[in-house]
Amino acid sequence: MIVMGKCLCGSIEVKLNDAPSEIIACYCTSCQKATGGPASFNIIKADAESEITKGTTKVFSDVADSGSKLERHFCDGCGSPIYSKTETYPGVKIFKAALFSDTENMKVVTNIWTKSAPEWAVLHEGVPSHAKGRT
Ligand SMILES: [Zn+2]
Ligand SMILES: [Zn+2]
Repeated sequence: MIVMGKCLCGSIEVKLNDAPSEIIACYCTSCQKATGGPASFNIIKADAESEITKGTTKVFSDVADSGSKLERHFCDGCGSPIYSKTETYPGVKIFKAALFSDTENMKVVTNIWTKSAPEWAVLHEGVPSHAKGRT
């Protein structure tokens, strides 16, 4: 099933070859700054299974809390985060979950970097939580 996603202003559109389902919630400090929230909510898709069908993202080169180099792609028009690429996981894009409105099968399956979650965060319970990244 093909699923489309888009940013706040609609300049960037994303196509996935199958419906997004598993969400990884990342509470690292870098994601907090980049999203303006307690965590980023991420859907990982292989490059071959996803496509940017409209628009061109702008890139911020970041260094993750893990020390890995991270490219944060966002919309130049509205500032919405779109996806990240990290040297830790080559060949995939880490899309932001809120791009997609078809949320039926989407659920948080893992929390990572919970040691840096702010006090006001509410973490999903009943799923594996990692103080740092997944090892
Ligand atoms: Zn936009
Ligand atoms: Zn993060």
